Amino acid sequence: MLRIVIFFLFILILTGCGQETEPVSTLNVDYCPPVDYDIVLAGNFGEPRPWHFHGGLDVKTGNVEGKQIFSIADGYISRITVNKYGFGNAIYVSHPDGMTSVYCHLKRFVDKYEQQLQRTGIHDTLSLVFPEEQFPVKGGDLIAISGNTGHSTGPHLHLELHDTETWVMVDPMEKLARFIPDTVAPQAHSFMAVPQDGEGLFNGGYTKQTFGFGQPDVKKQHTTWTLSREFTAWGRVGFALWADDYSEATYNHYGVRYTQLLVDGREVFRSDVSGIPVSCQPEVNQWGDYDHWRHTHIWYMKSYREPGMRLPILHTDFSQGIVNFNEERPYHLTYILRDYQGNQSQYDFTVQGVRDARIKNPQPRCQLLDNYLLFDQCLWPLYTRKRI
Ligand SMILES: [Zn+2]
Repeated sequence: MLRIVIFFLFILILTGCGQETEPVSTLNVDYCPPVDYDIVLAGNFGEPRPWHFHGGLDVKTGNVEGKQIFSIADGYISRITVNKYGFGNAIYVSHPDGMTSVYCHLKRFVDKYEQQLQRTGIHDTLSLVFPEEQFPVKGGDLIAISGNTGHSTGPHLHLELHDTETWVMVDPMEKLARFIPDTVAPQAHSFMAVPQDGEGLFNGGYTKQTFGFGQPDVKKQHTTWTLSREFTAWGRVGFALWADDYSEATYNHYGVRYTQLLVDGREVFRSDVSGIPVSCQPEVNQWGDYDHWRHTHIWYMKSYREPGMRLPILHTDFSQGIVNFNEERPYHLTYILRDYQGNQSQYDFTVQGVRDARIKNPQPRCQLLDNYLLFDQCLWPLYTRKRI
């Protein structure tokens, strides 16, 4: 067992994926909005996209360029980048609490930074790093003008927040939530049952199947849905969920910050998209059903952990979130979804365990992967304990 733990510890150190997502906070810093009007989001942190999670907040700029962009906290300009692709024109502000904010797709920077760029000559691609004393800023200082540069499909501000030391991407809502009103709970559209290869059946079938929760009503809050339809299962079955978050300010939809799956009141899976190590970006294709996305452009996010996944924002029981239907009785499943502001919705459905001779001895597996879960459950919290 010890060797297995050391092995995984070694892998984690080697890859960097799974680094702690909690920022190392040494000072309390006051945060303020990056714009001088009410923030409306076109996208939030952690939304699943092919091969990556959306790394920040997309702040609307009224479909135009030219909005004033302000530093969200005290600090100093630590980097300015210019690129035809990616972030386009971007400015980085490092803050004394160990965080760095990044403002992207800008039209231009304020004059003193533009002059600094002029001194280095005109380049298509540029990355300038500045020492702490060169360009100090206060929270609320004007630093740039919004635009549509780089990989951007329309004018907006893409705002990221990183742990300066580990460069883990952090949900900017952690600092800016009070400036972004939201009273609408996330909504689930449907769930997917995924019988594990040869080890489980759902509604008598070996293949994955989807079932709708009914039309979402984004105006309702703190709602509970109960599916009257009863399902059957035998053996090992995973579940996945298609869900979106909403706000009253716009028809845009967002990724869901918090998802929990309970079976008979016991948690088997939880995700809290608080922060993502950059090296874990491609794992979105494993957490999400990428194959399904390719055909439908709909993301079903699994409520279980695929072998080898290291995303530190997923938490499972000792069966990796896979539900083992091995008793002939009703199993009560509950999904709980929550956004950062605490708006919550709940979805209940019942699955009847019905013995089926095609599945032999549906017992929990006890293999190497379960040891990995032991690591996740018991040792990971020690490894990631906040440094003071
Ligand atoms: Zn964006």
